[in-house]
Amino acid sequence: MLLLKSRRQRESVIVQTMIKMYCMSHHGSIDSLCSACNALSVYAEKRLLSCMYGEAKPVCKECPVHCYSPPMRDYMRKVMRWAGPRMIVRNPFFAVMHMIDNFMSANPKKRSSLKTKQK
Ligand SMILES: [Zn+2]
Repeated sequence: MLLLKSRRQRESVIVQTMIKMYCMSHHGSIDSLCSACNALSVYAEKRLLSCMYGEAKPVCKECPVHCYSPPMRDYMRKVMRWAGPRMIVRNPFFAVMHMIDNFMSANPKKRSSLKTKQK
């Protein structure tokens, strides 16, 4: 089902699932997210939808645009670091691994080469 969707929709589903898992475990939420996690969820969705690259969006690690504000990025990192491994156990989906990788590491060399290509 996930494979039928576009990459952006897939990323959105994965991110939203991870936030939900994190919030349930850390903030005791059941049906809805706590306000902090809800803010992150809305923010992530907005960033994804307004990505200037559209469907051609590069993986975030290699993207020259840092669209997350530092506090949101830190929060998202925390969520991914916790939820990522658990998500893989539940749903061994390669894209998840890929996304965590995007968030956790940065490759300045690749980023700068992307930047120069853009010009
Ligand atoms: Zn929460």
